[in-house]
Amino acid sequence: MLLFKKINDLRKHLDPERKLGKTVGFVPTMGALHRGHISLIEQSNKTSDLTVCSIFVNPTQFNENADLEGYPRTPGKDIELLTASGCHILFMPAASEVYPDNYKPARQFDFGYLDQPMEGAHRPGHFQGMAQVVSRLLDIVEPDSLFMGQKDYQQYAIVQEMLVQMQSATKLVMCPIIREPDGLAMSSRNARLDKMQRLIAPNIFRTLNEAKKNVKSLSPNQLKEAAMKMLALPGMEPEYFEIVDGRTLQPVEVVEASEIVIACTAVRLGNVRLIDNMVLKP
Ligand code: AMP
Repeated sequence: MLLFKKINDLRKHLDPERKLGKTVGFVPTMGALHRGHISLIEQSNKTSDLTVCSIFVNPTQFNENADLEGYPRTPGKDIELLTASGCHILFMPAASEVYPDNYKPARQFDFGYLDQPMEGAHRPGHFQGMAQVVSRLLDIVEPDSLFMGQKDYQQYAIVQEMLVQMQSATKLVMCPIIREPDGLAMSSRNARLDKMQRLIAPNIFRTLNEAKKNVKSLSPNQLKEAAMKMLALPGMEPEYFEIVDGRTLQPVEVVEASEIVIACTAVRLGNVRLIDNMVLKP
């Protein structure tokens, strides 16, 4: 695997490869990699000639300083995992490379309703920061395909809209959520859970499953109410549990009215904030 820290070096390597007709798959990450990230690399390897992974803890998408500072960083292990996965190129820029002093965001995005609810409501500025870095990385890597996890469903929906607004030729591929054996969605933040928190964290998956089981017999409001109760264990504080249309992210009142219905949730365990979701329909 090749490691680049400078934009120019990465471009110098990729341009001739592209001229030879090679396709590029791109997996942006914030590092502290786990099997969820690696599944995206494997998906890219299947359909692209070259896979580029980026590791960049983007300061502009954190709305809490403690979350940014406490974000796990494990570059040595990340490089080992990526090498073993068959990833071809790792791009690991410094913040000054991504946002030099003279950097002006090329675009402002208006995502309409998509960035308003759920994560948008609880993490002000998060999605503008995320969109800023993803569009910047897309300009640098110019991939044919972009691989993102269903784990961050709202992010996926916003990036899809961003690609339309950018009139980008890059194809967005959503990859399924990879879970621990007890159902907890893999996340870099799981490393920050203490023993007790880790023990109760699979309650998130159980709650999502319960909603899925009852989707035909209860209304979305009843499902939501039951889920918020089930999530409120001692030591676990639910922030939201929403049942939304998979395309518009608008709350669903009648399940039959939407083609895709998805339950999305965020909970806090002490200082650690976890998100998860599950498709309830189809
Ligand atoms: P992050 O490093 O958390 O910004 O995540 C980078 C990419 O990995 C995003 O597209 C995430 O949706 C995806 N991802 C994170 N966790 C998982 C998981 N458990 N399963 C599948 N994809 C994931």
